[in-house]
Amino acid sequence: MVTIQNYIDGSFQPAVSGRVLENRRPRDGLVFGSLPASTKGDVDLAVTAARRAFPAWRKTSRQERAHWLRKIADTIEQRLDLFVAAESEDQGKPEWLARRVDIPRAVENFRFFAGAILHQEESAFESQCDVLNYTLRQPLGVAGLISPWNLPLYLLTWKIAPALACGNAVVAKPSELTPYTAHLLAQVLADIEFPRGVCNIVHGLGSEVGDALVGHPDVPLVSFTGGTATAQKISERAAPFAKKLSLELGGKNPALIFADCALDAAVETTLRSSFTNQGEICLCTSRIFIERSLWPRFSEAFLAGVHKLRVGDPRREDTKLGALVSEAHRFKVDGFVQRAVKAGAKLLAGGKMASIPGELSAGYYYEPTVLFTEDPTLEIMQEEVFGPVVTVSLFENYDEALSLANSTRYGLAATIWTQNLSVAHRAAAELDCGLVWVNTWMNRDLRVPFGGNKASGVGREGGRHSLEFYTEEKNICLQL
Ligand code: NDP
Repeated sequence: MVTIQNYIDGSFQPAVSGRVLENRRPRDGLVFGSLPASTKGDVDLAVTAARRAFPAWRKTSRQERAHWLRKIADTIEQRLDLFVAAESEDQGKPEWLARRVDIPRAVENFRFFAGAILHQEESAFESQCDVLNYTLRQPLGVAGLISPWNLPLYLLTWKIAPALACGNAVVAKPSELTPYTAHLLAQVLADIEFPRGVCNIVHGLGSEVGDALVGHPDVPLVSFTGGTATAQKISERAAPFAKKLSLELGGKNPALIFADCALDAAVETTLRSSFTNQGEICLCTSRIFIERSLWPRFSEAFLAGVHKLRVGDPRREDTKLGALVSEAHRFKVDGFVQRAVKAGAKLLAGGKMASIPGELSAGYYYEPTVLFTEDPTLEIMQEEVFGPVVTVSLFENYDEALSLANSTRYGLAATIWTQNLSVAHRAAAELDCGLVWVNTWMNRDLRVPFGGNKASGVGREGGRHSLEFYTEEKNICLQL
């Protein structure tokens, strides 16, 4: 059994209440550990520790902070196997995916911001020959960081690394469903003797810990990645304090597949963009729009690919889809599918829970599911499912494709498949979303702006955008 504890002021401790939550393993549904059921009292302790540590941390040089970040990265890398097994055990994802994507990316987050902070620039403005304005970028204090369960360490470190690099102290709250690798990260901090109190991790429910963190008067900025409904609560809670907020939220991402595309690449990548990590990535494709004349050839190749996707034991190298994160989430996904079928969508593949015989029979598996519909108003075309479920629909021409793609309240990401450069550029400009991939997917450069439009978020993170979010720019005007 894995006993997870809070990491506050450089020491591991249980929740003030003494209460714990069970941690279940998605691959077999069994309880394999516990985490603290923290409350406001634990958040208060963490914020107090962070406030105490902040003045010394902000005074450290950029080089020193970069050194610490590199040391964290190196130590995670040395413990790769441990982190990989933990991420898969906690989340349900295939181990090979954690090994190739999640953990290397967490390492890269620390290394990237260790470099970025050394290259951050400030400005100077000579107003008249005897008046000089210049700016300083300064940390804000205690950063409240709240992350979801789909890419647990990857998204948590995407916030922790820039926050620390910029000189803030941190109180982080990982998802209660996937606390394990955050705990391993805390062990790394303890083992390398990272300065006490600078980075604190408090576990527990969003409604308790998350809410207390967002509502804490001494936490001036909050970076949140999660669902749009939670973001609404966070915005309301933060508003009276005028906190700085970054919100990375859900998506209903379209793939526009034009008849002139390179079909093999479009099919292969759309299979990945639809079903990687069981579809539990905010950037996953969830609505596929295909030019009508391509449909016979696309559907044959795509459905053949779907039928080959192996659902099963996340520890096996040939498993393409592991388990969903929880039984509740599996029921939520299935509810979307059953309501879609009732409303007239046609099931082309999957559509039910998958059962793996033997020791994994109680795991939370779901078949990769494809639904055909031409009704953009259906719930399945409008609401985020966040599981291994895609819809396919047809379009006649460019205008119809764009109008369908833009017809939801979300605006996170899109993919375009065409060999016509003019169509690609025009569609990329006209899609109402924050990220567009042309003839590729999930090709990430950590310098580029990352974030969504409409209900998919507020603000951008990544590269200088993160450095700007985690600092406040001050102008100083000097009469010479
Ligand atoms: P949730 O919004 O349910 O939770 C996200 C985090 O917020 C969790 O740590 C959660 O804690 C916490 N939380 C819940 N309620 C509150 C509250 N009232 N105040 C403060 N914090 C709270 O999202 P999920 O964890 O279910 O993650 C899936 C969602 O995340 C999807 O919508 C997905 O699209 C989105 N996402 C967006 C990404 C992006 O970059 N745009 C990337 C990845 C995911 P607890 O788990 O304990 O409830």
